Amino acid sequence: MGKKKISDKAGVYLTYPALKIFMEYFGYASEQDFNSCEQIAALGGEINGDTIIVRQALPLPAAAASAGHVAVPGELWFWAMQVFGKSGAKLVGSAHTHPGSLNVFMSSSDMEANSLLFPDGVSIIVNPHRQIIGAFNKNGRKIPIILK
Ligand SMILES: [Zn+2]
Repeated sequence: MGKKKISDKAGVYLTYPALKIFMEYFGYASEQDFNSCEQIAALGGEINGDTIIVRQALPLPAAAASAGHVAVPGELWFWAMQVFGKSGAKLVGSAHTHPGSLNVFMSSSDMEANSLLFPDGVSIIVNPHRQIIGAFNKNGRKIPIILK
């Protein structure tokens, strides 16, 4: 049949405490000055093959941001790795916003950041205004979000 093998375990398991941290930081479902520019948070947890478990989220203050980009000093990523490491977790991805009328998708710079910082991890993209959320793997493919 040539049917493609699909792993039904593939996806990102997201704990409520981690979800709450970045959704509040992003001002989900509200329009405010602070969320008119892109925002980003580091995600901590573990990776088992195609399964990514996110247990922690750490908002990262941006050095520069606009409605279409966010820049975080490199040392903040190392700081996030250290914080996660204290509880045995690793940097497994990021959550960032695409504000305003933007759709939730992997831009070329999102693909680059994902492959550099957490090659087997996840990019969660949130539009707090349109109230949409999506998770993407290193190939830019949408993967399911499972809340736990
Ligand atoms: Zn993006």
